[in-house]
Amino acid sequence: MEIIRSIEDMQVRCKAFNQQHKQIGFVATMGFFHDGHISLMKQAKSENDIVAASIFVNPLQFGPNEDYEQYPRDEAHDISIAEQTGVDILFIPGVEDMYPKKMSIRMHMEERVNVLCGRSRPGHFDGVITVLTKLFHIIQPNRTYFGMKDAQQIAVVDALINDFNFPIELIGVPTAREQGGLAKSSRNVNLRDQEREEAVWLYKGLNSARQLVVDGEKNPDIIVKEVMDKITHNTTGKIDYVELLSYPELEPVTVIDQQVVLATAVFFKHARLIDNLLFNDIGELINRLK
Ligand code: AMP
Repeated sequence: MEIIRSIEDMQVRCKAFNQQHKQIGFVATMGFFHDGHISLMKQAKSENDIVAASIFVNPLQFGPNEDYEQYPRDEAHDISIAEQTGVDILFIPGVEDMYPKKMSIRMHMEERVNVLCGRSRPGHFDGVITVLTKLFHIIQPNRTYFGMKDAQQIAVVDALINDFNFPIELIGVPTAREQGGLAKSSRNVNLRDQEREEAVWLYKGLNSARQLVVDGEKNPDIIVKEVMDKITHNTTGKIDYVELLSYPELEPVTVIDQQVVLATAVFFKHARLIDNLLFNDIGELINRLK
């Protein structure tokens, strides 16, 4: 595995692969790898000649009171996991290289962001699309892999790719979970033991609500209330949001008659956790975007 830190070196390397008609699959990450990241890399490996992964904790996507400084980092461990998983090029740019000066252009999401995390974290997705535009230009991948755990992020990347004609195929990879159902997250290390036990209720609450849809419920308010009740009664966390929206448009629905995302975010003392389920009008899970 090659480790590349300079933008110019990365561009030269990726251009050479393009000229050799090697297909590049790209996985963008903020590091502190877990099974979720690994499943993205493995899928990229199985569908491309070259896997490029990046590690970059992007300051632009953190709000002033968020955990940019505290975000967990362990580069040496990440390098060894990437190597074992078959990553060919690991790109680890520095903040000063990615943002050497104040940018003259500001990218701003208009749609798909006034809900869910976009509403709770103003500017977050503007930071995401800015860094991804840079990474897509530097790497020029054929395919890019994102986790369905961040369902709104996939909807946003889908808009970025379509609105700006990036010739890149977007692939959503199913959420990797712990045995009890807790979605794997770099931020789980910040949970206390009791919170970790409680945190499974995000998934359990979402699933119990989905079961109501399987049983014929079509009213989104009842579905949302079921999730809220389960989380409130079984955790010490504070609910940021529970929402049910069309997917990937992320519009409100009055009746469940199409593909929807049921998503939640919950604040625990030292970590804000998110989770979601994507399902159709009869509650059948959709685990994989194409
Ligand atoms: P992050 O390093 O948190 O920015 O995540 C990098 C990529 O890994 C994103 O596409 C995430 O959606 C994805 N990811 C994070 N957690 C999981 C998970 N539990 N299952 C699948 N993908 C995940």
